[in-house]
Amino acid sequence: MAQLTTASLVAPRKILVGGGTLQQLPKLLQEFGLSRPLVVTDPWIVSSGMIDRVLAPLAEAGIGARVFSETVADPTDTVVEAGLAMLRRGSFDCLVGFGGGSPMDTAKAIGILAAAGPGQHLRDFKVPAAADRAALPLVCIPTTGGTGSEATRFTVITDTRNDEKMLIAGLGALPTAALVDYELTFSVPPRITADTGIDSLTHALEAFVSRRANPLADLYATAAMRLISRNLRKAYGAPRDATARAGMMEGAMLAGLAFSNSSVALVHGMSRPLGAHFHVPHGLSNAMLLPAVTRFSLQAAQSRYAEAARIMGLSTGDDATAANALLAELESLNRELGVPSPRQFGIEEAEFRKLLPKMAEQALASGSPGNNPRQPDAGEIV
Ligand code: NAD
Repeated sequence: MAQLTTASLVAPRKILVGGGTLQQLPKLLQEFGLSRPLVVTDPWIVSSGMIDRVLAPLAEAGIGARVFSETVADPTDTVVEAGLAMLRRGSFDCLVGFGGGSPMDTAKAIGILAAAGPGQHLRDFKVPAAADRAALPLVCIPTTGGTGSEATRFTVITDTRNDEKMLIAGLGALPTAALVDYELTFSVPPRITADTGIDSLTHALEAFVSRRANPLADLYATAAMRLISRNLRKAYGAPRDATARAGMMEGAMLAGLAFSNSSVALVHGMSRPLGAHFHVPHGLSNAMLLPAVTRFSLQAAQSRYAEAARIMGLSTGDDATAANALLAELESLNRELGVPSPRQFGIEEAEFRKLLPKMAEQALASGSPGNNPRQPDAGEIV
């Protein structure tokens, strides 16, 4: 395992966790001297009325906010540019990302693009470039309890020129503050609970077995694995179970801190092209891949996978027994949470096969597979 001397830690300056913390948004903005927010969200949050959960406390505190709600799932560069145009038309002093990973990532990218020089495009900032500057402070408020984007130094934006989901990394994508209020997730339907929940489990596990794992990130990864493994099935089966929702929301945030300070790996590298080409929701494509990629990687880091299994309460046996228990758990999670195969999801096989070499190339180019305990080549990815 990596030594402490190689570790560093980045995190939002303030993270508030717990039921009802959303009420503290006005106070939080005041603490940072902010009073003119542009709230970035998605159309469902507005049409369902959930947006009032943010706007009402702000209005009560005399803070007028404007809303950009054109974000889409797997946010695109064109949506980010539309958000930037709205930002430039007003005199805003901060961004608030409110919703799942898609609105939060859109808000991050708007801040990065606003700080960029004339003529620059988001693709100029994709990994391995660094996106270290953002024009405005950003507060993130997650509503799906899955991506952990509220605590990470990443944003994922699709380049519409070539359908590539670009990973953009740097301090410019790190929120200034996060409000993590599980009460916002009671309305998340079981399918999205499962997908985002497995997404967060993948974050924690990949951070833990990554070649860039380190003792600081391990603290978050282990806490996240404990919470997620105990609460995911419960949150899926009983959406209004406060303990399960709180555990998942906190687990997702901790998993975000884990991979933001370690890395994700092969599952994420392979899952982004599936999202870009076939619009498989991000958490679902991770779930489709997690058992097979874990089986592929197991021998290269058996003791780490075994430790993960013990942390999740799956085994007290030796390394081989515990690692196999983890694999069995990932397979039964997928069955119990109804994760479809790509074919069951509706992906047309001939088109899928045609795109496999390109998707393998995009996966390798993203850099994430390089962090995997076992390094794949393009043929193995295919
Ligand atoms: P999402 O934001 O696309 O939301 C999925 C759906 O859930 C939407 O229809 C949304 O309206 C709905 N929804 C949101 N909150 C709800 C609620 N409380 N009740 C009912 N419905 C609700 O999905 P996501 O999985 O949260 O985010 C996926 C995106 O996040 C992907 O683009 C992925 O690449 C990105 N991501 C980013 C990071 C990061 O560190 N930046 C990490 C992981 C994933």
